[in-house]
Amino acid sequence: MRNLQATQLIYELSQPGRRGARSPACDVPVDGADKLLPADLLASAPPPLPELAEPDVIRHFTNLSTLNMSVDTHFYPLGSCTMKYNAKRNERMANLPGIVDLHPLQPDATIQGMLDLLWHLQEFLAEISGLPAVSLQPAAGAHGELTALMVAAAWFRSRGEKRTKVLAPDSAHGTNPASASMAGFETVTVKSSAQGLVDMQDLQTKLDDQIGVFMITDPNTLGLFDHQVAEISELVRSRGGLIYLDGANMNAILGIARPGDFGADMMHFNPHKTFSGPHGGGGPGAGPICVAEKLGPFLPSPVVRKENDHYRLDFDRPQSIGRVRSFFGNVGVLVRAYCYIRSHGAEGLKQVSEQAVLNANYLLSRVRHIISVPHGDRCMHEFVASAAALKKSKGITAMDIAKRLLDFGFHAPTVYFPLTVPEAMMIEPTETESRQTLDAFAEALFRITEESSELLHEAPHSTVISRPDEVRAAKQPVLRWKSG
Ligand SMILES: *Cc1c(COP(=O)(O)O)cnc(C)c1O
Repeated sequence: MRNLQATQLIYELSQPGRRGARSPACDVPVDGADKLLPADLLASAPPPLPELAEPDVIRHFTNLSTLNMSVDTHFYPLGSCTMKYNAKRNERMANLPGIVDLHPLQPDATIQGMLDLLWHLQEFLAEISGLPAVSLQPAAGAHGELTALMVAAAWFRSRGEKRTKVLAPDSAHGTNPASASMAGFETVTVKSSAQGLVDMQDLQTKLDDQIGVFMITDPNTLGLFDHQVAEISELVRSRGGLIYLDGANMNAILGIARPGDFGADMMHFNPHKTFSGPHGGGGPGAGPICVAEKLGPFLPSPVVRKENDHYRLDFDRPQSIGRVRSFFGNVGVLVRAYCYIRSHGAEGLKQVSEQAVLNANYLLSRVRHIISVPHGDRCMHEFVASAAALKKSKGITAMDIAKRLLDFGFHAPTVYFPLTVPEAMMIEPTETESRQTLDAFAEALFRITEESSELLHEAPHSTVISRPDEVRAAKQPVLRWKSG
Protein backbone atom coordinates (compact mmCIF):
# COMPACT_ATOMS: atom_id res chain seq x y z
CA MET A 1 0.00 0.00 0.00
CA ARG A 2 1.27 3.44 -0.82
CA ASN A 3 0.59 5.65 2.15
CA LEU A 4 3.17 8.32 1.41
CA GLN A 5 1.85 10.49 -1.38
CA ALA A 6 4.18 13.38 -0.68
CA THR A 7 4.72 14.64 -4.19
CA GLN A 8 0.99 14.47 -4.89
CA LEU A 9 0.35 16.48 -1.72
CA ILE A 10 2.96 19.11 -2.57
CA TYR A 11 1.56 19.38 -6.05
CA GLU A 12 -1.96 19.87 -4.74
CA LEU A 13 -0.84 22.45 -2.19
CA SER A 14 0.84 24.41 -4.95
CA GLN A 15 -2.34 24.61 -7.02
CA PRO A 16 -4.24 27.89 -7.03
CA GLY A 17 -6.85 28.08 -4.31
CA ARG A 18 -5.45 25.20 -2.24
CA ARG A 19 -2.43 26.74 -0.64
CA GLY A 20 -3.84 29.17 1.91
CA ALA A 21 -6.11 26.57 3.43
CA ARG A 22 -3.23 24.22 4.33
CA SER A 23 -0.64 26.76 5.44
CA PRO A 24 -2.34 29.67 7.15
CA ALA A 25 0.95 31.37 8.11
CA CYS A 26 2.04 31.59 4.50
CA ASP A 27 2.17 35.07 2.95
CA VAL A 28 1.26 33.91 -0.54
CA PRO A 29 -2.29 34.93 -1.40
CA VAL A 30 -4.82 32.12 -1.67
CA ASP A 31 -4.88 32.45 -5.42
CA GLY A 32 -1.24 33.41 -5.53
CA ALA A 33 0.81 30.74 -7.24
CA ASP A 34 -0.34 31.41 -10.77
CA LYS A 35 0.16 35.16 -10.27
CA LEU A 36 3.68 34.77 -8.88
CA LEU A 37 4.93 32.53 -11.68
CA PRO A 38 4.35 32.78 -15.41
CA ALA A 39 1.73 30.24 -16.46
CA ASP A 40 4.08 28.42 -18.81
CA LEU A 41 6.43 27.68 -15.90
CA LEU A 42 3.75 26.04 -13.74
CA ALA A 43 3.73 22.25 -13.68
CA SER A 44 0.68 20.62 -15.18
CA ALA A 45 1.19 17.33 -13.34
CA PRO A 46 3.14 16.08 -10.32
CA PRO A 47 6.80 15.28 -11.06
CA PRO A 48 7.35 11.57 -11.77
CA LEU A 49 9.10 10.78 -8.48
CA PRO A 50 8.94 7.31 -6.96
CA GLU A 51 6.17 6.85 -4.38
CA LEU A 52 7.02 4.38 -1.65
CA ALA A 53 5.61 3.38 1.71
CA GLU A 54 7.66 4.53 4.69
CA PRO A 55 8.46 0.97 5.90
CA ASP A 56 9.82 0.14 2.46
CA VAL A 57 12.06 3.20 2.51
CA ILE A 58 13.30 2.43 6.03
CA ARG A 59 14.02 -1.20 5.14
CA HIS A 60 15.82 -0.21 1.97
CA PHE A 61 18.21 2.19 3.69
CA THR A 62 18.66 0.06 6.80
CA ASN A 63 19.60 -2.92 4.66
CA LEU A 64 21.96 -0.81 2.60
CA SER A 65 23.62 0.47 5.77
CA THR A 66 24.42 -3.10 6.85
CA LEU A 67 26.49 -3.57 3.70
CA ASN A 68 28.95 -0.94 4.87
CA MET A 69 31.90 -1.50 7.09
CA SER A 70 32.11 1.07 9.84
CA VAL A 71 33.96 1.64 13.08
CA ASP A 72 30.80 0.57 14.91
CA THR A 73 30.78 -2.80 13.17
CA HIS A 74 34.38 -3.68 12.28
CA PHE A 75 38.05 -3.02 13.03
CA TYR A 76 39.06 -0.22 10.66
CA PRO A 77 42.88 0.23 10.60
CA LEU A 78 42.86 2.85 7.83
CA GLY A 79 46.29 4.44 8.21
CA SER A 80 46.54 8.22 8.17
CA CYS A 81 42.77 8.51 8.72
CA THR A 82 42.70 7.62 12.45
CA MET A 83 39.41 5.70 12.45
CA LYS A 84 39.02 5.46 16.21
CA TYR A 85 35.80 4.58 17.98
CA ASN A 86 33.30 7.46 17.97
CA ALA A 87 32.18 7.69 21.58
CA LYS A 88 28.37 7.82 21.73
CA ARG A 89 28.54 10.34 24.57
CA ASN A 90 29.79 12.93 22.05
CA GLU A 91 26.82 12.19 19.80
CA ARG A 92 24.39 12.71 22.70
CA MET A 93 25.96 16.07 23.53
CA ALA A 94 26.04 17.24 19.92
CA ASN A 95 22.34 16.42 19.61
CA LEU A 96 21.15 18.37 22.64
CA PRO A 97 18.33 20.77 21.70
CA GLY A 98 20.30 23.78 22.96
CA ILE A 99 22.87 22.95 20.30
CA VAL A 100 20.96 21.65 17.29
CA ASP A 101 18.11 24.18 17.56
CA LEU A 102 20.35 27.24 17.30
CA HIS A 103 20.13 29.36 14.19
CA PRO A 104 23.44 30.65 12.82
CA LEU A 105 21.99 34.14 12.34
CA GLN A 106 20.98 34.58 16.01
CA PRO A 107 22.50 37.63 17.72
CA ASP A 108 25.60 36.92 19.84
CA ALA A 109 23.72 37.71 23.05
CA THR A 110 21.40 34.73 22.48
CA ILE A 111 24.16 32.18 21.71
CA GLN A 112 26.50 32.80 24.63
CA GLY A 113 26.59 29.08 25.48
CA MET A 114 27.70 28.07 22.01
CA LEU A 115 30.26 30.89 21.86
CA ASP A 116 31.57 29.82 25.27
CA LEU A 117 32.04 26.29 23.90
CA LEU A 118 33.76 27.49 20.72
CA TRP A 119 35.98 29.91 22.63
CA HIS A 120 37.10 27.15 24.97
CA LEU A 121 37.78 24.89 22.00
CA GLN A 122 40.00 27.64 20.53
CA GLU A 123 41.85 27.77 23.86
CA PHE A 124 42.26 23.98 24.06
CA LEU A 125 43.62 23.74 20.52
CA ALA A 126 46.02 26.61 21.19
CA GLU A 127 47.27 24.79 24.27
CA ILE A 128 47.61 21.40 22.55
CA SER A 129 49.39 22.90 19.52
CA GLY A 130 51.53 25.49 21.29
CA LEU A 131 50.27 28.03 18.73
CA PRO A 132 48.11 30.79 20.24
CA ALA A 133 45.87 32.09 17.43
CA VAL A 134 43.06 29.81 16.23
CA SER A 135 40.42 29.71 13.51
CA LEU A 136 37.71 27.07 13.72
CA GLN A 137 36.29 27.88 10.29
CA PRO A 138 37.94 25.50 7.78
CA ALA A 139 35.72 22.56 6.86
CA ALA A 140 38.36 19.80 6.63
CA GLY A 141 42.06 19.17 7.05
CA ALA A 142 42.72 19.99 3.40
CA HIS A 143 40.72 23.19 3.76
CA GLY A 144 42.81 24.07 6.83
CA GLU A 145 45.97 23.64 4.74
CA LEU A 146 44.61 25.96 2.05
CA THR A 147 43.45 28.52 4.62
CA ALA A 148 46.80 28.55 6.41
CA LEU A 149 48.69 28.95 3.14
CA MET A 150 46.42 31.88 2.27
CA VAL A 151 47.20 33.35 5.70
CA ALA A 152 50.92 32.88 5.01
CA ALA A 153 50.60 34.56 1.60
CA ALA A 154 48.75 37.50 3.22
CA TRP A 155 51.48 37.79 5.85
CA PHE A 156 54.20 37.87 3.18
CA ARG A 157 52.20 40.48 1.23
CA SER A 158 51.90 42.64 4.34
CA ARG A 159 55.69 42.63 4.52
CA GLY A 160 56.01 43.57 0.88
CA GLU A 161 57.28 40.11 -0.04
CA LYS A 162 56.06 37.73 -2.69
CA ARG A 163 57.26 34.21 -2.26
CA THR A 164 56.46 31.58 -4.84
CA LYS A 165 57.41 28.17 -3.46
CA VAL A 166 56.03 25.59 -1.07
CA LEU A 167 58.32 22.68 -0.21
CA ALA A 168 56.84 19.30 0.76
CA PRO A 169 58.42 15.86 1.25
CA ASP A 170 57.71 13.13 -1.32
CA SER A 171 55.87 11.18 1.40
CA ALA A 172 53.34 14.00 1.91
CA HIS A 173 49.58 13.55 1.58
CA GLY A 174 48.31 14.61 -1.85
CA THR A 175 46.35 17.44 -0.26
CA ASN A 176 49.62 19.28 0.57
CA PRO A 177 50.71 20.01 -3.02
CA ALA A 178 47.05 20.49 -4.03
CA SER A 179 46.54 23.15 -1.33
CA ALA A 180 49.82 24.82 -2.26
CA SER A 181 48.77 25.04 -5.87
CA MET A 182 45.31 26.42 -5.00
CA ALA A 183 46.93 29.06 -2.79
CA GLY A 184 49.06 30.17 -5.75
CA PHE A 185 52.37 28.53 -4.87
CA GLU A 186 54.53 26.20 -6.89
CA THR A 187 55.29 22.92 -5.08
CA VAL A 188 58.85 21.69 -4.84
CA THR A 189 59.23 18.08 -3.68
CA VAL A 190 61.91 17.20 -1.15
CA LYS A 191 63.19 13.62 -1.17
CA SER A 192 62.99 11.25 1.77
CA SER A 193 66.12 9.56 3.08
CA ALA A 194 66.56 5.79 3.24
CA GLN A 195 65.33 6.04 6.85
CA GLY A 196 62.07 7.60 5.67
CA LEU A 197 62.82 11.08 7.06
CA VAL A 198 63.42 14.36 5.23
CA ASP A 199 66.65 14.10 3.25
CA MET A 200 68.54 17.06 4.70
CA GLN A 201 70.96 17.31 1.79
CA ASP A 202 68.15 17.45 -0.71
CA LEU A 203 66.41 20.07 1.44
CA GLN A 204 69.57 22.21 1.44
CA THR A 205 69.75 22.21 -2.35
CA LYS A 206 66.10 23.25 -2.65
CA LEU A 207 66.14 26.07 -0.12
CA ASP A 208 66.30 29.55 -1.59
CA ASP A 209 64.81 32.98 -0.95
CA GLN A 210 61.65 32.11 -2.85
CA ILE A 211 60.53 29.55 -0.26
CA GLY A 212 57.30 30.61 1.40
CA VAL A 213 56.35 27.54 3.40
CA PHE A 214 57.77 24.12 4.19
CA MET A 215 54.89 21.69 4.80
CA ILE A 216 55.84 18.80 7.03
CA THR A 217 53.76 15.97 8.44
CA ASP A 218 55.23 14.94 11.77
CA PRO A 219 54.92 12.15 12.76
CA ASN A 220 55.13 11.53 9.04
CA THR A 221 53.06 9.27 6.81
CA LEU A 222 55.46 6.38 7.47
CA GLY A 223 54.55 6.58 11.16
CA LEU A 224 57.98 7.96 12.05
CA PHE A 225 58.72 11.07 14.06
CA ASP A 226 61.14 13.20 12.09
CA HIS A 227 63.49 14.29 14.86
CA GLN A 228 65.15 16.76 12.46
CA VAL A 229 62.08 18.98 12.54
CA ALA A 230 63.57 21.68 14.80
CA GLU A 231 66.68 21.82 12.61
CA ILE A 232 64.55 21.97 9.45
CA SER A 233 62.57 24.79 11.00
CA GLU A 234 65.76 26.76 11.72
CA LEU A 235 66.96 26.30 8.15
CA VAL A 236 63.67 27.37 6.61
CA ARG A 237 63.42 30.34 8.95
CA SER A 238 66.94 31.46 8.09
CA ARG A 239 65.64 31.86 4.52
CA GLY A 240 62.59 33.79 5.71
CA GLY A 241 60.11 30.92 5.22
CA LEU A 242 57.40 29.52 7.50
CA ILE A 243 56.80 25.97 8.71
CA TYR A 244 53.39 24.35 8.27
CA LEU A 245 52.67 21.21 10.23
CA ASP A 246 50.11 18.84 8.74
CA GLY A 247 48.46 17.75 11.98
CA ALA A 248 46.69 14.65 10.68
CA ASN A 249 48.94 12.53 12.88
CA MET A 250 48.41 14.41 16.13
CA ASN A 251 46.99 11.24 17.65
CA ALA A 252 50.58 10.16 18.29
CA ILE A 253 51.75 13.19 20.28
CA LEU A 254 48.82 14.75 22.18
CA GLY A 255 50.10 16.19 25.44
CA ILE A 256 53.58 14.87 24.65
CA ALA A 257 55.01 17.29 22.08
CA ARG A 258 53.62 20.59 20.81
CA PRO A 259 54.19 21.62 17.18
CA GLY A 260 54.61 25.26 18.26
CA ASP A 261 57.47 24.12 20.52
CA PHE A 262 59.27 22.08 17.88
CA GLY A 263 59.24 24.72 15.18
CA ALA A 264 55.82 25.00 13.50
CA ASP A 265 54.34 28.42 12.68
CA MET A 266 50.99 27.01 11.50
CA MET A 267 49.11 23.73 11.65
CA HIS A 268 45.70 22.14 11.22
CA PHE A 269 43.87 19.62 13.34
CA ASN A 270 41.55 16.97 11.93
CA PRO A 271 38.98 16.73 14.75
CA HIS A 272 37.25 13.92 12.84
CA LYS A 273 40.48 11.94 13.19
CA THR A 274 42.25 12.97 16.37
CA PHE A 275 39.19 13.93 18.39
CA SER A 276 37.02 10.98 17.33
CA GLY A 277 34.45 12.77 15.17
CA PRO A 278 32.62 10.28 12.95
CA HIS A 279 33.92 10.42 9.37
CA GLY A 280 34.17 8.45 6.19
CA GLY A 281 32.01 8.44 3.10
CA GLY A 282 32.86 12.10 2.63
CA GLY A 283 30.97 13.03 5.77
CA PRO A 284 31.54 16.37 7.44
CA GLY A 285 34.85 17.06 9.08
CA ALA A 286 36.57 20.19 10.26
CA GLY A 287 40.04 21.62 9.92
CA PRO A 288 40.70 24.21 12.61
CA ILE A 289 44.05 25.91 12.23
CA CYS A 290 46.41 27.26 14.89
CA VAL A 291 49.06 29.81 14.01
CA ALA A 292 51.81 31.86 15.64
CA GLU A 293 50.94 35.22 17.18
CA LYS A 294 52.30 37.23 14.23
CA LEU A 295 49.98 35.42 11.80
CA GLY A 296 46.87 35.77 13.98
CA PRO A 297 45.58 39.04 12.44
CA PHE A 298 45.36 37.33 9.02
CA LEU A 299 43.13 34.43 10.15
CA PRO A 300 39.61 34.21 8.70
CA SER A 301 36.85 36.29 10.28
CA PRO A 302 35.05 36.08 12.56
CA VAL A 303 36.88 34.64 15.55
CA VAL A 304 35.29 34.19 18.97
CA ARG A 305 36.47 36.71 21.56
CA LYS A 306 35.91 36.81 25.30
CA GLU A 307 35.44 40.19 26.97
CA ASN A 308 34.85 40.09 30.71
CA ASP A 309 32.17 37.40 30.97
CA HIS A 310 30.74 38.02 27.55
CA TYR A 311 31.53 36.34 24.23
CA ARG A 312 31.23 37.93 20.83
CA LEU A 313 32.10 37.25 17.22
CA ASP A 314 34.89 39.57 16.17
CA PHE A 315 34.56 40.77 12.58
CA ASP A 316 36.65 43.90 13.05
CA ARG A 317 39.89 42.45 11.76
CA PRO A 318 41.18 44.56 8.86
CA GLN A 319 44.07 42.24 7.90
CA SER A 320 41.92 39.08 7.83
CA ILE A 321 41.84 37.01 4.64
CA GLY A 322 38.03 37.03 5.07
CA ARG A 323 35.64 34.13 5.32
CA VAL A 324 36.54 30.64 4.14
CA ARG A 325 33.32 28.97 5.30
CA SER A 326 29.77 30.11 5.99
CA PHE A 327 28.88 30.94 9.59
CA PHE A 328 31.21 29.31 12.18
CA GLY A 329 32.38 26.21 10.31
CA ASN A 330 31.10 22.68 10.86
CA VAL A 331 29.91 23.32 14.38
CA GLY A 332 28.55 19.80 14.95
CA VAL A 333 32.03 18.34 14.44
CA LEU A 334 33.55 21.02 16.67
CA VAL A 335 31.06 20.26 19.48
CA ARG A 336 32.08 16.60 19.37
CA ALA A 337 35.76 17.60 19.52
CA TYR A 338 35.06 19.82 22.52
CA CYS A 339 33.25 16.97 24.30
CA TYR A 340 36.08 14.58 23.49
CA ILE A 341 38.74 16.93 24.87
CA ARG A 342 36.70 17.78 27.97
CA SER A 343 35.87 14.17 28.78
CA HIS A 344 39.51 13.07 28.50
CA GLY A 345 41.18 16.05 30.13
CA ALA A 346 44.86 16.87 29.75
CA GLU A 347 46.11 13.66 31.32
CA GLY A 348 43.60 11.56 29.40
CA LEU A 349 44.66 12.99 26.03
CA LYS A 350 48.25 12.08 26.77
CA GLN A 351 47.11 8.55 27.59
CA VAL A 352 45.24 8.42 24.27
CA SER A 353 48.49 9.02 22.40
CA GLU A 354 50.54 6.68 24.57
CA GLN A 355 48.01 3.90 24.04
CA ALA A 356 47.75 4.59 20.29
CA VAL A 357 51.54 4.30 19.95
CA LEU A 358 51.62 1.19 22.12
CA ASN A 359 48.88 -0.51 20.07
CA ALA A 360 50.63 0.30 16.80
CA ASN A 361 53.93 -1.06 18.09
CA TYR A 362 52.25 -4.20 19.38
CA LEU A 363 50.64 -4.83 16.01
CA LEU A 364 53.90 -4.03 14.22
CA SER A 365 55.70 -6.65 16.31
CA ARG A 366 52.97 -9.19 15.49
CA VAL A 367 52.95 -8.67 11.71
CA ARG A 368 56.55 -7.96 10.78
CA HIS A 369 57.25 -11.70 10.50
CA ILE A 370 54.34 -12.00 8.07
CA ILE A 371 54.82 -8.95 5.89
CA SER A 372 57.88 -6.74 5.65
CA VAL A 373 57.93 -3.36 7.34
CA PRO A 374 60.72 -1.46 5.60
CA HIS A 375 61.22 1.45 8.00
CA GLY A 376 62.41 0.09 11.28
CA ASP A 377 61.06 -1.97 14.11
CA ARG A 378 59.49 0.90 16.02
CA CYS A 379 56.76 3.29 14.97
CA MET A 380 54.53 6.03 16.28
CA HIS A 381 50.74 5.59 15.94
CA GLU A 382 50.90 3.75 12.59
CA PHE A 383 53.32 1.88 10.37
CA VAL A 384 53.68 1.10 6.69
CA ALA A 385 54.14 -2.51 5.58
CA SER A 386 55.09 -3.50 2.04
CA ALA A 387 53.75 -6.43 0.03
CA ALA A 388 56.53 -6.00 -2.57
CA ALA A 389 58.33 -9.21 -1.51
CA LEU A 390 55.07 -11.20 -1.44
CA LYS A 391 54.24 -9.90 -4.91
CA LYS A 392 57.57 -11.13 -6.18
CA SER A 393 57.49 -14.54 -4.50
CA LYS A 394 53.79 -15.43 -4.64
CA GLY A 395 52.10 -12.86 -6.85
CA ILE A 396 50.12 -11.43 -3.91
CA THR A 397 49.62 -7.65 -4.05
CA ALA A 398 48.67 -5.10 -1.41
CA MET A 399 45.30 -4.79 -3.18
CA ASP A 400 44.73 -8.57 -2.91
CA ILE A 401 45.39 -8.50 0.82
CA ALA A 402 43.24 -5.42 1.33
CA LYS A 403 40.29 -7.01 -0.50
CA ARG A 404 40.67 -10.39 1.19
CA LEU A 405 40.72 -8.79 4.65
CA LEU A 406 37.06 -7.84 4.05
CA ASP A 407 36.20 -11.56 4.00
CA PHE A 408 37.81 -11.90 7.42
CA GLY A 409 35.67 -9.06 8.78
CA PHE A 410 38.28 -6.30 8.76
CA HIS A 411 38.25 -3.05 6.87
CA ALA A 412 41.31 -2.73 4.66
CA PRO A 413 44.26 -0.60 5.68
CA THR A 414 45.21 2.34 3.44
CA VAL A 415 47.02 0.90 0.43
CA TYR A 416 49.47 2.36 -2.12
CA PHE A 417 50.16 5.35 0.12
CA PRO A 418 52.63 6.81 0.89
CA LEU A 419 53.95 6.67 -2.66
CA THR A 420 57.53 6.18 -1.45
CA VAL A 421 56.84 2.56 -0.40
CA PRO A 422 56.03 -0.02 -3.13
CA GLU A 423 52.87 -2.09 -2.45
CA ALA A 424 52.32 0.00 0.67
CA MET A 425 49.86 -0.98 3.39
CA MET A 426 49.48 1.71 5.99
CA ILE A 427 48.14 0.27 9.21
CA GLU A 428 46.82 2.36 12.11
CA PRO A 429 45.06 0.44 14.87
CA THR A 430 44.29 3.44 17.16
CA GLU A 431 44.05 3.32 20.94
CA THR A 432 40.45 2.16 20.99
CA GLU A 433 41.16 -1.46 19.95
CA SER A 434 41.69 -4.38 22.28
CA ARG A 435 44.61 -6.77 22.21
CA GLN A 436 42.22 -9.54 21.09
CA THR A 437 41.24 -7.51 18.03
CA LEU A 438 44.86 -6.79 17.14
CA ASP A 439 45.73 -10.49 17.52
CA ALA A 440 42.80 -11.51 15.32
CA PHE A 441 43.91 -9.05 12.64
CA ALA A 442 47.49 -10.37 12.69
CA GLU A 443 46.12 -13.94 12.47
CA ALA A 444 43.96 -13.02 9.44
CA LEU A 445 46.94 -11.40 7.74
CA PHE A 446 48.99 -14.56 8.31
CA ARG A 447 46.25 -16.83 6.91
CA ILE A 448 45.83 -14.62 3.84
CA THR A 449 49.52 -14.74 2.97
CA GLU A 450 49.26 -18.56 3.05
CA GLU A 451 46.36 -18.61 0.57
CA SER A 452 46.58 -19.13 -3.18
CA SER A 453 47.06 -16.07 -5.31
CA GLU A 454 44.13 -17.11 -7.58
CA LEU A 455 41.75 -17.02 -4.61
CA LEU A 456 43.16 -13.66 -3.56
CA HIS A 457 42.96 -12.04 -7.00
CA GLU A 458 39.18 -12.65 -6.96
CA ALA A 459 38.63 -11.45 -3.39
CA PRO A 460 36.48 -10.35 -1.68
CA HIS A 461 34.17 -13.34 -1.87
CA SER A 462 31.66 -12.46 0.86
CA THR A 463 30.56 -8.99 -0.25
CA VAL A 464 27.72 -8.01 -2.60
CA ILE A 465 30.12 -6.56 -5.14
CA SER A 466 33.36 -8.46 -5.52
CA ARG A 467 36.08 -6.44 -7.18
CA PRO A 468 34.94 -3.59 -9.39
CA ASP A 469 37.20 -1.77 -11.77
CA GLU A 470 37.81 1.07 -9.34
CA VAL A 471 38.79 3.67 -11.90
CA ARG A 472 35.73 2.95 -14.03
CA ALA A 473 33.48 2.86 -10.97
CA ALA A 474 34.71 6.34 -10.03
CA LYS A 475 34.55 7.76 -13.55
CA GLN A 476 31.28 6.18 -14.70
CA PRO A 477 29.22 5.70 -11.54
CA VAL A 478 25.85 4.01 -12.06
CA LEU A 479 23.47 6.19 -10.08
CA ARG A 480 19.85 5.20 -10.50
CA TRP A 481 16.76 4.68 -8.44
CA LYS A 482 14.85 2.61 -10.95
CA SER A 483 15.78 -1.02 -11.12
CA GLY A 484 16.32 -2.30 -14.65
C1 LIG B 1 43.55 13.10 6.25
C2 LIG B 1 44.79 13.80 5.90
C3 LIG B 1 44.76 15.07 5.31
C4 LIG B 1 43.49 15.75 4.84
O1 LIG B 1 42.53 15.90 5.82
P1 LIG B 1 40.97 15.91 5.47
O2 LIG B 1 40.34 16.23 6.76
O3 LIG B 1 40.65 14.55 4.95
O4 LIG B 1 40.76 16.97 4.42
C5 LIG B 1 45.97 15.72 5.11
N1 LIG B 1 47.13 15.14 5.42
C6 LIG B 1 47.20 13.91 5.97
C7 LIG B 1 48.53 13.33 6.33
C8 LIG B 1 46.02 13.19 6.22
O5 LIG B 1 46.07 11.96 6.75
